[in-house]
Amino acid sequence: MPDCLFCRIVAREIPAQYVCEDEDFVAFRDISPKAPTHVLIVPRKHIPKLSQASEEDVTLLGRMQRLAARIAAEAGLESWRLVLNNGRGAGQSVFHLHYHLLGGRPLLWPPG
Ligand code: AMP
Repeated sequence: MPDCLFCRIVAREIPAQYVCEDEDFVAFRDISPKAPTHVLIVPRKHIPKLSQASEEDVTLLGRMQRLAARIAAEAGLESWRLVLNNGRGAGQSVFHLHYHLLGGRPLLWPPG
């Protein structure tokens, strides 16, 4: 396993506020929430960033978005945003691909 924070959370070596998990994904609350609902959706598979995902990850990525919609619905959110930071310049700080699901407050556009 690479020395990766999210791999360690997925493996339950580091505690988190887990929201749900299945055979392919783990979702947990962001430690520094930027909205009342701020959930990170993380594939168990270690893909450093979206630009390194391959053709074989297409189904996984699609299922990640469906899971985000399910978590949002279960949280009672009508409007919400999915964010994926790709690369340091875009704000990526953990190099294990993940979506941020944000909701529960007005979300401005464009983001900063
Ligand atoms: P990004 O900057 O897009 O790579 O997102 C990484 C996110 O992980 C940030 O929003 C952090 O607040 C969050 N984060 C860092 N460490 C933890 C942790 N131990 N548990 C939950 N979220 C974390």
